[in-house]
Amino acid sequence: MAAKIISGTETAAIIREELKEEVKILKEQHGLVPGLVTIIVGVNPASVSYVTAKQKTAKELGFYSIQEDVHEDVPEEELIAMVDKYNKDRSIHGILVQLPLPRHINETRVLNAINPNKDVDGLHPVNIGKLMIGDATFYPCTPLGIQQLLVKNGIQTDGAEVVVVGRSNIVGKPIAMMLVQKAKGANATVTICHTATRDLAKHTKRADILIVAAGRPKAITADMVKEGVTVIDVGVNRVGMTPEGKAKLCGDVDFDAIKEKAAFITPVPGGVGPMTITMLMLNTVKAARLAANII
Ligand code: NAP
Repeated sequence: MAAKIISGTETAAIIREELKEEVKILKEQHGLVPGLVTIIVGVNPASVSYVTAKQKTAKELGFYSIQEDVHEDVPEEELIAMVDKYNKDRSIHGILVQLPLPRHINETRVLNAINPNKDVDGLHPVNIGKLMIGDATFYPCTPLGIQQLLVKNGIQTDGAEVVVVGRSNIVGKPIAMMLVQKAKGANATVTICHTATRDLAKHTKRADILIVAAGRPKAITADMVKEGVTVIDVGVNRVGMTPEGKAKLCGDVDFDAIKEKAAFITPVPGGVGPMTITMLMLNTVKAARLAANII
């Protein structure tokens, strides 16, 4: 039987409506307007499209939002000074520096310069450390989006065998850490796989929930999964252009073949992507509440 498609677009739309209402109430009852600054360095087309979508959503939800377009030759110190300016700006509750940064800039130094209380991307070591002990203020947006997709679509994680393919700091490692916690929407048995994993299929075939963040088209084929699996495809791979001149995207799994075997599967586009942006908004509203002490 063909899988049920988990629509990130639909799940995200429901959460955005809830956030819109929350922002309206914060404004009316407390005079509080969540503020988000997005900082982009250079003109990488993928980064520009992500930041444009984030700004558009922030405006739709009624945020105060600023976009900083920074020249790709910007010295690291100047970028850190900009981050610091927004650390001190009381109208800004969330700071997002779009990654990747140009090679001459040390990404870690820039991310570490963000005040952890304004780290709405959830990538500051303080927030990653708190995530590890199960007490995070801000969870990284993509892993949080994945967890919300599972919870909101009624997929049981408690006791489930979860296999994560990919061990990046922004997706693989944090989602594995989140799902292993003794908590609701977690409590799973988690395996992390990577390029040095021997016999990848041996692991993926065990998965009740398979989360793939490898950045490789069709890294996972139908013979590598079991019947009834839930597949969350995080990959976004550009594989040409549409006749309308837009980038043609595909995920990391062989969607057409796996959907015949899986119980649930996310599409690309329209799966994890819309959730990532929505979680950035959710984190920004949370940051604004925390700053104003409205919990
Ligand atoms: P990354 O930093 O490149 O990490 C990829 C990981 O996958 C690495 O740990 C790598 O192993 C592992 N890997 C690659 N090929 C593999 C294979 N054939 N078998 C097993 N493991 C393999 O990527 P990322 O930043 O996590 O992103 C992953 C994908 O998700 C990309 O396509 C990215 O565009 C997408 N993404 C989407 C969103 C969204 O919102 N939809 C957000 C973030 C990322 P090693 O560590 O051994 O190299």
